[in-house]
Amino acid sequence: MAKVIVLMGAPGAGKGTQAQLLSRRFGWPQISTGDILREMAEQDTALGRHIKNVLASGQLVSDEILADIIQERTERDDCRGGYILDGFPRTIRQAQLLDRLVSERGHELVVINIAVTRQALVARLAARRICPRCGAVYNMNSRPPRQDELCDRCGSPLRLRSDDHPDAIQRRLEVYQEQTAPVIDYYRRQKKVAEIDGDRSMDEVFQDLVRVIRERNGR
Ligand code: AMP
Repeated sequence: MAKVIVLMGAPGAGKGTQAQLLSRRFGWPQISTGDILREMAEQDTALGRHIKNVLASGQLVSDEILADIIQERTERDDCRGGYILDGFPRTIRQAQLLDRLVSERGHELVVINIAVTRQALVARLAARRICPRCGAVYNMNSRPPRQDELCDRCGSPLRLRSDDHPDAIQRRLEVYQEQTAPVIDYYRRQKKVAEIDGDRSMDEVFQDLVRVIRERNGR
């Protein structure tokens, strides 16, 4: 049965980095709603400008917009054998939509929560840099680029994300507590959540994720 891996966790927990590594290991596409929205925010349209403002504020984009994005993206052929979600669902309504899509298509949901202390989250978000050209993610403390603030892959100058400024970081952590933490409880009630300690090195967290996914494969 094709697996839909849902990586849950606060902003800065390492969902994006781990989703990228898992995608390479298992060959499933990584679907990052944050990346899709950042791309849409570059378009000079009413929708693009709207999304750009919401992103910079640290609030969530509406469930309606997310529903269109996720339906369209998960319908593509590359998702038939499974896929990895990073940043979706972030509200109960989104989780209900995903439940419906997964059951209609006969897929199996594997929810993994990467737990990280608040102190570590704030430090990680402030040290994060992204490459605006190829999307590579760095951390100036734990995973710095080889050359000062330039992307290892494509040489572009790295940037702070518009929502990694202190005010937006605080807002995103609040939004997470209010709207997204209840989604984990929603899945916990269904006994679907595997818990992972995210306060460890990237490699250790990755090995744990691979173990959890393999265990599910055996069932
Ligand atoms: P991320 O890259 O996952 O941290 O997402 C960056 C921003 O994109 C979030 O702070 C939200 O504004 C928006 N976003 C990403 N995924 C979602 C989602 N599932 N629902 C609503 N907004 C989202």
